Amino acid sequence: ADSSPRYKRIVLKLSGEVLRGSGTDPIDSEVLSRICGQVKEIHEMGVQVCVVIGGGNIFRGLQGESRGVDRTTGDYMGMLATVINGLAIMDCLEKMDVRTRVQTAIPMDQVAEPFILRRSVRHLEKGRVVIFVAGTGNPYFSTDTTAALRANEVGAEIIFKATKVDGIYNKDPKKHADAVRYDDITFIDALRQRLNVMDATAFSLCLDNDLPILVFDLSDPHAIRQAVLGQKIGTLVHS
Ligand code: UDP
Repeated sequence: ADSSPRYKRIVLKLSGEVLRGSGTDPIDSEVLSRICGQVKEIHEMGVQVCVVIGGGNIFRGLQGESRGVDRTTGDYMGMLATVINGLAIMDCLEKMDVRTRVQTAIPMDQVAEPFILRRSVRHLEKGRVVIFVAGTGNPYFSTDTTAALRANEVGAEIIFKATKVDGIYNKDPKKHADAVRYDDITFIDALRQRLNVMDATAFSLCLDNDLPILVFDLSDPHAIRQAVLGQKIGTLVHS
């Protein structure tokens, strides 16, 4: 039927920027509630949800270099930024009566559980939304790579990459009026055409393990629900 979810277990990758509203605050509470409302919607459909949150709204490792911060230090700062975002998502979901667990790749007992795969899976089975923070715990990686890694680990069927663009184009739609958006594209074609789906590490993890990625725009009020129902939205990258 049209209303039954196509996926049982998904990883939702949210870039930090999606939390920023029109103002200057890195986390806009209205935007945050809207996104969490969307997560609640699919959670209530019985979908097991992992959230991997980025940190770009607060700090990116590479940004540090222009401010005299070493790459590795900057990367740790970026990973800590994801923890801040993750706690905001946790708090907002809990207030909507969605049970959550935050798992961090960098141990900080008072703040979140350590990442333990078997526990993550158990939480998912019990209907808790698992929020993965602190990236992979290693510098030189990204939260896209974290999403690809965790999705493979927990056995998710797909990564939902929610961003501010509505999919993947053959060329930059901001520069070219005749740019065409793909409904779907294979990993190989995306590689051949050098399309920027995710960074190379994240992309190859998905390619090597046949893990599809759906790239879509989160500003549509029911985008995540549509994605879960397999309705036409964004661009699907598949093998
Ligand atoms: N980061 C890292 N290792 C990881 C994940 C993230 O060092 O495994 C750092 C990196 O500096 C990155 C920052 O954390 O710039 C924020 O993550 P990301 O840029 O992926 O966030 P997004 O763009 O999704 O908001």
